[in-house]
Amino acid sequence: MREGRISIVVPAFNEAENLPLLKDRLTSALEGFGDVEILIVDDGSHDRSAQILRDFAAEDTRLHYVSLSRNFGHQSALKAGLDRASGACVITLDADLQHPPEHIAEMVESWRDGFDVVNMVRRDDPGTPAFKRVTSKLFYRFVNAISDFEIRPGTSDFRLLDRRVVDALLRLEERTLFLRGTLLWLGFQQCYIAYDPGTRAHGTVKYNFRRMISLALDGITSSSTRPLRFSTYLGAVMAGLGMTYAGYALLLKIFAGAPVSGWASLLVGIMTFGGVQLLMLGIMGEYLGKVLVEVKGRPSYIVREQSEPGAAAKIKSPVAALQARLSNSRM
Ligand code: UDP
Ligand code: MG
Repeated sequence: MREGRISIVVPAFNEAENLPLLKDRLTSALEGFGDVEILIVDDGSHDRSAQILRDFAAEDTRLHYVSLSRNFGHQSALKAGLDRASGACVITLDADLQHPPEHIAEMVESWRDGFDVVNMVRRDDPGTPAFKRVTSKLFYRFVNAISDFEIRPGTSDFRLLDRRVVDALLRLEERTLFLRGTLLWLGFQQCYIAYDPGTRAHGTVKYNFRRMISLALDGITSSSTRPLRFSTYLGAVMAGLGMTYAGYALLLKIFAGAPVSGWASLLVGIMTFGGVQLLMLGIMGEYLGKVLVEVKGRPSYIVREQSEPGAAAKIKSPVAALQARLSNSRM
């Protein structure tokens, strides 16, 4: 059976109203687990989050925080948390309480049973409008068709990772992280548990449609080169069609003596080919942009402030704290 510290990593962007509630729910959900740590990543919030987290950390030695220098995005915030988590397993969940902390016990149980990745799968809310359900399904179908992995609908970044998985993940040197895809690439023993999502306690959702599209594009282009292959095929098909049409026009001229009439066909041809070329350039551009980001090698996030690493350990051991102070004063 697996033992050891349980780390909880929570990315939070402008979630000041949710933080106290989150802390309470986490604290009661974690009762009975001996060694736990809670790591809240403030992803450049503009509200009172940073101050609240400072107070939390002062009150509870199991709670740590990292404040990033600006908003780096959900995935980078998760990375900042994973970089600092020290547990034998790490659970990531959202700060808005849509990922109910009450499921932690169940997740840990699966981990103790030997699973390395425990994915939580959102049950369909019967209240979701049909339109939203259909578009969401189409979205997953599309993403899965043009990427190398198969993302299960309803999975999000609510999951448990074993230490080995976290270490493997952190060894990857890529900047553009799309955890849902990367974890499938990593493999390991994965399992899925269904849950009913909570409703957002306070505030508004940070992902709008544009950000969803951008996340999907990042996900696809960071894990697969299939779209490039697709543009090659599309180019071949369009060139074939063009040549067929040219042959047809030529034959018509030779045998019927009349040229194909009308500028409509001309315009359609120009527009279609122009569109296809732009599409392919766009796809290539996406990849080129990714290459630029990776080549620059900038970090995925910058830390502005964080609770003192190992603060909990120091408080637990006054002797060590005294020794540290003595060695500091000698310098
Ligand atoms: N979040 C973040 N940085 C961002 C956007 C979101 O850390 O730039 C956090 C947010 O505070 C929340 C989680 O990521 O804890 C999920 O965001 P949200 O609830 O807005 O989106 P949902 O997943 O519910 O669509
Ligand atoms: Mg949410």
